Amino acid sequence: MQELEDRIRHDGIVKAGNVLKVDAFLNHQCDVELFDHMGAEWARLFEGVEINKILTIEASGIGMACIAAQHFGGVPVVFAKKAQSINLDGEQYATTIYSFTKQKEYPVIVGKRFLSEGDKVLIIDDFLANGCALEGLIKICEAAGAEVAGIGIAVEKGFQGGGDKLRERGFRVESLARIADMDCETGEITFA
Ligand code: 5GP
Repeated sequence: MQELEDRIRHDGIVKAGNVLKVDAFLNHQCDVELFDHMGAEWARLFEGVEINKILTIEASGIGMACIAAQHFGGVPVVFAKKAQSINLDGEQYATTIYSFTKQKEYPVIVGKRFLSEGDKVLIIDDFLANGCALEGLIKICEAAGAEVAGIGIAVEKGFQGGGDKLRERGFRVESLARIADMDCETGEITFA
């Protein structure tokens, strides 16, 4: 998606350790108009695919998933929580994920009431690197008997291989910007 690639080139910052900082428009300050265009693009890419729910993970995925949902007929958005809370009542699906940016494991939890057998789920997230976050969300869908109808990603860092592994397993992954390479010394970003 040209608009997202242009924005990454303009406002993205390449950090050491293969981290791309996009907090000016994607995951700290949010450009809602850009989110709307991203939602429209995912809807175009997944046209004809039956989707009745969007699943994402707190916190960065929530904004873009909610705006995207409006392009999928206002389907509900469920976000996996990363910590137990007294507000999390009832039975839960839970697994653990290794965080690429925080370099530690954390839990992901979804209340059983919000994901059911037969649900056709579009998973949305901001980044795809090694694929650990998506693995966790896929495991939760499998535990619920829900079908992963597709995966919509804002930024895929293709050189980290997570996207290809998921595609090899048969998942349909649509990334709006695919980075083939980035250089933390020069700040140069090469899109696939
Ligand atoms: P994965 O689990 O695929 O290795 O990494 C995906 C998760 O790590 C995303 O949910 C995102 O929060 C975080 N992440 C991975 N790479 C980056 C990055 O380059 N920049 C930012 N801001 N987050 C990232």
